[in-house]
Amino acid sequence: MTLFEKIIAREIPADIVFEDDRCLAFRDISPQAPVHILLVPKRVIPRVAETTPADAELLGHLIVTAGTIAKSEGIAGFRLVINNGADGGETVPHLHLHLLGGRPMTWPPG
Ligand code: AMP
Repeated sequence: MTLFEKIIAREIPADIVFEDDRCLAFRDISPQAPVHILLVPKRVIPRVAETTPADAELLGHLIVTAGTIAKSEGIAGFRLVINNGADGGETVPHLHLHLLGGRPMTWPPG
């Protein structure tokens, strides 16, 4: 079971901000911005590199939901990030979307 599956199953506590039948959103334990929320699909997909066309609707749902949460958090400017693989900064092998906002973002990212 991945760490995020345990959060979905309420085996590990988290500050949950949104849930529906397909995804869960909760605040990152180590926030990199005033608003830092993780959106995770309930059906485990390890990472973007292992997605298939069958995942497209679910991944689209995560992005649409991130937009809705950003609105409810009152952040007009925000960044969505998905880390893939060790060099991409992935530490949890359960695909997740980072929603970051509440401060100006810089480019290029670190
Ligand atoms: P990534 O590095 O893209 O795989 O992102 C994993 C994220 O999960 C990191 O930003 C961590 O701070 C976050 N994280 C790890 N453990 C927890 C936890 N128990 N609750 C909330 N966020 C967590």
